[in-house]
Amino acid sequence: MRIGLIDWIWFFSFIPQKYILCVNCFWTLLLLVEQAIEFPQVFAKVRVWERMVFDFILRGGRVIDPSQGVDEIMDVGFSGGKVARLGINLPAESRTEMRDVTGRLVVPGLIDLHTHVYWGGTSLGIDAQDFCRKSGVTTCIDTGSAGPGNFAGFRKHVIEQSAVRILAYLHVSFAGIYAFSKTVMVGESEELRLLAPADAVAVAEANRDVIIGIKVRVGLRASGRSGTAPLDIALQAANQTGLPLMCHIDEPPPSYEEVLERLRPGDVLTHAFRPFPNAPVDPQGRVKDAVLRARQRGVHFDIGHGKGSFAFKTARAMLANGFLPDTISSDIHALCIDGPAYDQVTTLSKFLCMGMPLNDVIAATTVNAAMALRRPELGTLKPGSVGDATILSIKQGEFDYVDVVGEHMTGDRRIVSEGVVIAGHWWHP
Ligand SMILES: [Zn+2]
Repeated sequence: MRIGLIDWIWFFSFIPQKYILCVNCFWTLLLLVEQAIEFPQVFAKVRVWERMVFDFILRGGRVIDPSQGVDEIMDVGFSGGKVARLGINLPAESRTEMRDVTGRLVVPGLIDLHTHVYWGGTSLGIDAQDFCRKSGVTTCIDTGSAGPGNFAGFRKHVIEQSAVRILAYLHVSFAGIYAFSKTVMVGESEELRLLAPADAVAVAEANRDVIIGIKVRVGLRASGRSGTAPLDIALQAANQTGLPLMCHIDEPPPSYEEVLERLRPGDVLTHAFRPFPNAPVDPQGRVKDAVLRARQRGVHFDIGHGKGSFAFKTARAMLANGFLPDTISSDIHALCIDGPAYDQVTTLSKFLCMGMPLNDVIAATTVNAAMALRRPELGTLKPGSVGDATILSIKQGEFDYVDVVGEHMTGDRRIVSEGVVIAGHWWHP
């Protein structure tokens, strides 16, 4: 039964005038008791706030964190290597390092879901730290540069030496992508004898802290005439380990549809906005049914720009259909770092200039990537998460962008990295 105002008036009309004061006293007393019960908790909260000493504060930036739906001007405080608090005018002590980022964007540390950073161990590898300095990236995902036969070297000589976080999809091919250069180009998935699912399972199990999935490349250039066989073999390893799979696609065979129908919820299709043939749209610019079905099933669509895998024409058609990529990644390697991919912020800028909303662009390199990795502590500025942040600015002007088929686009904005925070400390020079 609900008691309304009328009932209360009716109830009070029966109380003699001389007792009304007592009734009021009673309610006041009740209120005080209630406050007294709550007071220690409130007091404790205030004390925690008072005691929180920040090691580092990013002051006054526009914080965009799609994982929390945050887009406002405030400070980000770091403590103990982690994000400690978002707020206005966070208190600084004498030992607190501070950086004024007024007029800049502060976003979670960028994740580039598709890179090749086995520098020195593979011909396509680039130096992760050099790349991240100019690209605003704090987490590089290496996608299959190493396979089970050479992952140990990647781990010891690159991953463990790097200030930038490196996680990896392990290639199902024994030596990963071992012959990818201007002069020697051999598809590692073409020779089925090199595919080693049992070894991949063993190496993935032994390196669960850094291996987050299984990689395979299929397509005329990566697997010759083997069709979907390498993909089916890679899926065995992915199923056995319970890890997601990232599948590369290039020219047919196999077709875009044949690849998609094999992918499971949570698996990633990279090079998703590639040019014809094997584009996600038909020649009339309609999104293929297989693409829509796969998205509904939970397949993740990643850009993976690279040297041959991103076309403005495809991207325009997809965006016109309201089909945004889940993640934007550079697929940076030795043959595309001097163009057309360049770096992650350039790849992001292309989408911004094609009309993708800024917050969606940021989500596509932060929280969405973290979801694909199943690492919710990344790609976010929630208190307690890894203390990584990227500071960006957006320049206005006329900027030339180029895709993999040589089409140029003039854009009116350019996203520029102004520095990164890694593990709660300023890292960018
Ligand atoms: Zn790649």
